[in-house]
Amino acid sequence: MAKVYRDDDVDLSVLKDKTVSILGYGNQGRSQALNLRDNGINVVIGNRGDDYRSLASEDGFDAFDIPAATGKGDVVMVLLPDETHANVLPVDVFPHLKPDATLVFAHGYSVFYKEVDPPEGHDVTLLAPKMIGAAVRELFTAGAGFPSLVAVERDASGQAWKTVLALARGIGSTKLGAWETTFEEETITDLFGEQVGGGAAIVSIMRSFKVLTDAGYDPEVVQLEMLGSGELVEVIRSQWREGVIEALSGHSPTSQFGQLHRAEELKDSDAADQYLKAVLGQLQDGSFADLWRKEQEAGYERLEALRAKYLANPFCDASRRNREELKEVIDKGIV
Ligand code: NDP
Repeated sequence: MAKVYRDDDVDLSVLKDKTVSILGYGNQGRSQALNLRDNGINVVIGNRGDDYRSLASEDGFDAFDIPAATGKGDVVMVLLPDETHANVLPVDVFPHLKPDATLVFAHGYSVFYKEVDPPEGHDVTLLAPKMIGAAVRELFTAGAGFPSLVAVERDASGQAWKTVLALARGIGSTKLGAWETTFEEETITDLFGEQVGGGAAIVSIMRSFKVLTDAGYDPEVVQLEMLGSGELVEVIRSQWREGVIEALSGHSPTSQFGQLHRAEELKDSDAADQYLKAVLGQLQDGSFADLWRKEQEAGYERLEALRAKYLANPFCDASRRNREELKEVIDKGIV
């Protein structure tokens, strides 16, 4: 069982008299900066000179370019998109670190896949919220916590755990819990979850739509069933709250029997197991990371082509029409 740290396990005072430099004022950067400041931590922002930097200044932070902000930090939190790390960190960050500065990543990707090589002598740590940036702030201001993963890749000072846990408390995570992990485990499980979960959702929804509309059923009625009504959101919410199987009690007996009967039919699919293991292998051996690097070098050609292809799917047309019909419900966030 992974160790879970909560507020009482953590000493926030290790950040007293320290400066935390947050590099990047985007989804995570802004929320984490505001939360740390509200917890009494001295924060400065590093960003290129554009709208994000202006927003940081409007929010009352001292904002600098990335090298200058790096040089001020006892703790340097890298909250830049992962695909920028290989170009930005060796030039704008590593040469400007204070001698004892602690590096903190929000995702293990660039370190695990060796796209960056943090200089010797610095603690290298991970604080990865399992929460989107906006909710990191919203939950904090509502007095709630959110889960995160914490890890230490290199403990040069002997204090790396204390520092990263204090940050986890500072951003508001240990109010709920920070789970101990490694850079590898965080990277692989995060990628696996989004690729398999997200990919399976796209395939199952769109394939089901095709089978049903090919059989002559109305596209809008089918889309409503597969996604549009918002019922699926409620189903997932109840699975999250109660458990995947426990939540079945909220469904009719016909639905319960149908779901479990189909799950039983699908569970012995060797093809699915083999596919999942192949995905895991490609994440562990770095071949997905190579593919993604080449895709970036090619100017995201395949990503754009895939996006266009899937957007042209009739399911998306039916979705657009239903979203118009359901606009009021969606805008009010009723489901
Ligand atoms: P964003 O895309 O929101 O970050 C954008 C920030 O990075 C902006 O400040 C932007 O400023 C700056 N930036 C973008 N490109 C460059 C560049 N080439 N050079 C310098 N600065 C650049 O990122 P996120 O907040 O989504 O992600 C940050 C980290 O957090 C990542 O490691 C991610 O994996 C991790 N994470 C993200 C989560 C999420 O929900 N989004 C959840 C958990 C972890 P500008 O464009 O002005 O330069």
